Amino acid sequence: MKRPRYFCEHCGAEVGRDASVCPSCGRFFSSVKCPRCGFSGEPFLFRNGCPSCGYSEAGGRSAPGPRRPTAAGPLPVWMYVAAVLALGAALAAVLLAAR
Ligand SMILES: [Zn+2]
Ligand SMILES: [Zn+2]
Repeated sequence: MKRPRYFCEHCGAEVGRDASVCPSCGRFFSSVKCPRCGFSGEPFLFRNGCPSCGYSEAGGRSAPGPRRPTAAGPLPVWMYVAAVLALGAALAAVLLAAR
């Protein structure tokens, strides 16, 4: 996977994608550069994604790239409630039929 690289604008040292402080010279980064279109500006401009192209890195700090479908994620609560209700209804039907 192609990963964008970031360099300190002050001393030229390579810094991490999420770094806000240069590990080499300790300078705080005042601007953020969009890895997609190259737009650079204040970090708050990027809170809702790149103001130029819409690229967002807020959601994928540790996992850049396309989002996976959430099929393997935890089930929503209503699924459990529905399952319990269905089970209860089935049990009641069995009990009523057994009488
Ligand atoms: Zn630096
Ligand atoms: Zn952009």
